[in-house]
Amino acid sequence: MIKAKKSLGQNFLIDQNIIKKIINVVDIKDKNVLEIGPGTGSLTSEIFKKKPKKIILIEKDDKLVEILKDRFNKDIEFINKDVLKIDENNLNNQILTVFGNLPYNISTEILSKWILNINPKKVWFSCLVLMFQKEVADRIISKFNTKNYGRLTILANWRLNIKKIIDIKPSSFQPKPKVESTVLFFEPKNNFTKFKNAKNLEKITRIFFMHRRKMIKKPFKQLFRNNENIASELGIDLNLRPQNLDFDTYYELTKRYEFLRG
Ligand code: SAH
Repeated sequence: MIKAKKSLGQNFLIDQNIIKKIINVVDIKDKNVLEIGPGTGSLTSEIFKKKPKKIILIEKDDKLVEILKDRFNKDIEFINKDVLKIDENNLNNQILTVFGNLPYNISTEILSKWILNINPKKVWFSCLVLMFQKEVADRIISKFNTKNYGRLTILANWRLNIKKIIDIKPSSFQPKPKVESTVLFFEPKNNFTKFKNAKNLEKITRIFFMHRRKMIKKPFKQLFRNNENIASELGIDLNLRPQNLDFDTYYELTKRYEFLRG
C-alpha cells in the first residue's frame, strides 16, 4: 500500500463503479487523452481499457511517476511536473479529452487558469471531466438569484457548457477526504461573448462580489463612475445585489468597461 501524501492532496479512488462512471462519461476510443493527477493509476487503467489513441499523464509526485511507469510500461507519455506550471496550449497538437481527480484547490485553480488562457482560434481540449469538492461544484453550476452564484459561476459559464455527472461519498476514496466530491463535465461553447482581455471579466466580478449582501451601487460607481446610462441601457437596477445579475449582464458590463477604457 502506498502512503498517501497529504501535502499533495492524495485521496485515491477505490470504488470501481465510480471509476467506471467517470471514464464512461465520454467515448475515448481512438482519442487523445490527458489525465492530470493520476495517482496510483485507478482512473488510468480504466482509460487504458477503452483503447484511446494516446495517453498523456501529468503527475507531480516523483514516487508515483515511478510506480505508474512500472504499472503501465506501455505507450504513455509521462510529464512529471506541477500541472499549474504547464503551458496547456502547447501540450500536444491533437485535441485532448481531459480527466482529472486532483486536489480540490488545484482543480479550481486550474479550471480558472485554463478558461482565461483559452486560445480563441484553437481550443486545446474537447472536454474536461474534473472532480471538485461538492460545495465548489455547486457554485460552478449554480443559477443567478441563488446564494451559490458567484465569480466562479460567471467565469466558468462564459466559455463552457457544464453538466453535473455524479456526487461521490468520502468512502469511495482511500484515505477518505473530509468532504463530499462532485464530478463535472465541461465542453467549450461555440458562442460566447468576446472580450479584449478576459482578465477584465475577473476584475468586474471581483469588484461586484466584494460585498455580497450590499447593493451594487458602489461597485458600479467604482467601475463606471458617472456613466449611469450604462445601467439603464442594460436594464440594471443598482439597488440589486450582485447575485441578482445574470451571466449575460456581467459579460455585457465587461464589454462596456473595456469600451470605456479604450
Ligand atoms: N486520480 C487519482 C489520484 C487522486 S489524488 C485517483 O483518483 O485515485 C490527487 C493526485 O494529484 C495525486 O496523485 C497527486 O500527487 C496529484 N497532484 C497533486 N498536486 C498536483 C499538481 N500540482 N500537479 C500535478 N499533479 C498533482
